[in-house]
Amino acid sequence: MVSADVALKWLKEGNDIYISSEKNHRGDISLEKRLHTHHHGQNPYAVIVTCSDSRVIPESIFMSGIGDLFVIRLAGNVVADFGLGSVEYAVEHLGCKLVLVMGHSMCGAIHAAIENKHNNYLSTIINEIQAAIKDEKDSNKAAKLNVINTINKIKSNEIIKEFIEKEDVVVMGSIYHTHSGKVEFFK
Ligand SMILES: [Zn+2]
Repeated sequence: MVSADVALKWLKEGNDIYISSEKNHRGDISLEKRLHTHHHGQNPYAVIVTCSDSRVIPESIFMSGIGDLFVIRLAGNVVADFGLGSVEYAVEHLGCKLVLVMGHSMCGAIHAAIENKHNNYLSTIINEIQAAIKDEKDSNKAAKLNVINTINKIKSNEIIKEFIEKEDVVVMGSIYHTHSGKVEFFK
């Protein structure tokens, strides 16, 4: 088991390497690691809840490999029941001690929510974001408010709440900056 503090340290170290790298040479994607995790199961050190945006690639941003991160992605990094179920699974059954919600700059879902442009299935996501950001028109501020809303949803989940009360899991927020590659971790 990896503690939340160590997990956070690894994420920060990985992100520092990512910013100055051309390719992901740190994450272990070797045959050996593939076979080991195949036979012995996964033991990821962090859960990442983030956006589906193709510019936001958690395994590269944190320079991680097979079995390192349990990633949940939906446009706008919202979590509904399926997402919460996935977080529950990672915390309760895989022993993850750190859940990081990661919004990002230039998020299309946030812009759509601000501009109120949406239809059909996308509306379910936009309505969720609009409830979180209310009248905020600044996309960076709105992205933060949206991350906080997702954190609150995760924290109010019955199972996660128990783990938080036991100080057995940490749920925190962050913003990925698409221009610099830097992850800004919330205090
Ligand atoms: Zn996005």
